[in-house]
Amino acid sequence: MSDRQSRHQQSMQKLKSRVDGKVAQATEQRGQLLVFTGNGKGKTTAAWGTVTRALGYGYRVGVVQFIKGLWECGERQRLEEDANLEVAIMGTGFTWETQNRELDTQACQAVWHDAERMLADPEVYLVVLDEITYMLKFGYLDIATVKAAIEARPGEQTVIVTGRNAHRELVAMADTVTEMQETRHAFNSGLQARRGIDF
Ligand code: ATP
Ligand code: MG
Repeated sequence: MSDRQSRHQQSMQKLKSRVDGKVAQATEQRGQLLVFTGNGKGKTTAAWGTVTRALGYGYRVGVVQFIKGLWECGERQRLEEDANLEVAIMGTGFTWETQNRELDTQACQAVWHDAERMLADPEVYLVVLDEITYMLKFGYLDIATVKAAIEARPGEQTVIVTGRNAHRELVAMADTVTEMQETRHAFNSGLQARRGIDF
């Protein structure tokens, strides 16, 4: 065996024992809280990717979209055919244009009721609270209410929270926090959001 080959083999053995050690330590089984935040692209895409995974095993999934209701969304159009998926979308109200606090708050509260129902249902394996961070930021929802519902969820249920500027208390309680970092975004070079790629 060449020197190079034996060095490679040694370092692979070391790596394997390190990984095996970590795998052996990860013994706890329970639902988790994941936060996908940061300014870079990919938060909602990653959430829908996880939704697809869960549906692939036949689990029930709830997605709550805390954004203006009429936005197109390719993932939703495709996956909604799956009877195991329920999507609740924030209805009228929240738009950047109107900024009607009263209407926004009502629309947000209405869809939050769907979220609460999903978060209390032991049959629901995964709940996605997409863009909920903005609702907290604008004060349409309060952090104590959201925290309480997430904390009281069934033990096997996983929750994904997405959106920029995640509340520090959500970050603190999460099992996994991923900060999408923007290195560059096409939008800033004048490229339009692209169907099937950005929505
Ligand atoms: P995506 O839905 O593509 O995963 P995201 O959830 O990380 O993006 P949002 O802030 O929710 O990011 O963005 C919603 C829309 O804005 C999407 O069409 C997305 O492609 C686009 N977008 C995401 N990040 C940026 C950015 N840094 N600058 C401009 N547009 C962005
Ligand atoms: Mg998003």
